[in-house]
Amino acid sequence: MAVKVRYAPSPTGSPHVGNLRTAIYDWLLAKKEGGEFLVRLEDTDRSPDRYAPESIADIEESLRYLGILPDSWWVTGGKDTPYVQSERLPLYAEIVEGLIAQGHAYKCFCTKERLEQMRQRQQELGIPSGYDRRCRNLPLDDRARYEAENLPYVVRLAMPLEGTCLLKDAVRGEVKYEYRLQDDQVLLKSDGFPTYFLAATVDDRLMGITHILRGEEWLGSAPKMIHLYNVLEWEAPVFAHLPVILGTDRKKLSKRHGSTNFRAFIEQGYLPEALINFLVLLGWSTGEENRELLSINEIIERFSLSGITEHPAIFDYEKLKWMNGHYIRSSQPGRITGLCIPYLVKAGLLSNPPTPEEVAYARRIIPLEQERMKVLSEVVDLVGFFFKELNYPNGYDEKAIAKWMGVAHIKALLEKEIAAFESLPEWTTEAIEAASRAIGEELGVKFAEVVHPTRVATTGQTVGPGLFETLWALGRERTLERLRTVLAHLS
Ligand code: GLU
Repeated sequence: MAVKVRYAPSPTGSPHVGNLRTAIYDWLLAKKEGGEFLVRLEDTDRSPDRYAPESIADIEESLRYLGILPDSWWVTGGKDTPYVQSERLPLYAEIVEGLIAQGHAYKCFCTKERLEQMRQRQQELGIPSGYDRRCRNLPLDDRARYEAENLPYVVRLAMPLEGTCLLKDAVRGEVKYEYRLQDDQVLLKSDGFPTYFLAATVDDRLMGITHILRGEEWLGSAPKMIHLYNVLEWEAPVFAHLPVILGTDRKKLSKRHGSTNFRAFIEQGYLPEALINFLVLLGWSTGEENRELLSINEIIERFSLSGITEHPAIFDYEKLKWMNGHYIRSSQPGRITGLCIPYLVKAGLLSNPPTPEEVAYARRIIPLEQERMKVLSEVVDLVGFFFKELNYPNGYDEKAIAKWMGVAHIKALLEKEIAAFESLPEWTTEAIEAASRAIGEELGVKFAEVVHPTRVATTGQTVGPGLFETLWALGRERTLERLRTVLAHLS
């Protein structure tokens, strides 16, 4: 049987790491098995804190960004259209009617107030909370009367009162549940929208899904869904519950650990291949020791559900940054430059849109920082000195001044450099370096005693890319101007 998987995000906000990991695993399984990957929007929870329609664009963009495009979804359509649950309401209503007619589901007229009182009582008595099944056993004439009065109702699934449910999970192995401990789950809400349990089950069946990959937090819903499959006489797909993701302190991943949603990743500047490599390892491994850097093709070749562990996955931001730095360094400079320019525009260092001269400047300076960049947004700080209005000593690092601007040969050095740089026939890294070496020899100082003060004088700081590349990228005019300003001040 051909594999068919679905990623089923709810538009509750920008997709977070857990969502993205599920989507990546779905995509990988489909790729590996030559199967189909569809994406379905689960938008049936309309409560204001759970429904954020603007996040639908984020869901779409995240998949495009990662390059894990589905074979079918609401964006392109496909043979299982519609892919948006709120457009499928009649399908769920029809199934629910059948369930009620067969006695597998029932209308519940209990008011919010009654349910609240019930919950409180259960708490006081210290018994597990859950619906007390009052309406499951409602006398027939009461039900007829409530219906005649058009009282609002929900539809609940009548769970078996005995027996065990056996879940054969592809990750966790066999998990058993006592049916009698399961709540009579709401399937259809009073607003006519289905709950997740009903909608996901019906859609997975109608869409022919073979494998359900989802977060471990959904494990508790498995017995209810399996029971639904049983009473509908449908064969259940394979379930694979993906391990929970924790922070390095082994607490549930949250904002405290750093932003972990798609928007934040994009804003900070993570490359898609780094995100995929990192996220895929949150709960899956190749089994090969010390194998962490994997290309997408290597991952596809190796991916299988059996490589997924049930142990919690640890989200280590430092590791993600390290990985991203690796992929930045191994990218073509032109790509990184193109990706960095928008950050410089946003920071106001380049005009919007940048002029051709600015783009040419960016092309010279950004590749010099590529080695040191861990996330693209760092480019703003890293190349800041290329743009700064340095007016000695304003804008200069105080420690750098104290260390290098007071050395005995400073004035002679600056004078000679200005003279030499003015008359260089060509402004190339090699020519700048040769001139600097010659000046060092003339002055009888070590090469480092040329390099360090020159760096401070021209950049305001002691760290940065290679000095001669830096001067070349700064350009002759800017370099001379900075050297002259320092000299004027020191004289
Ligand atoms: N709509 C659910 C969510 O966003 C999907 C759970 C599932 O994959 O079945 O978490």
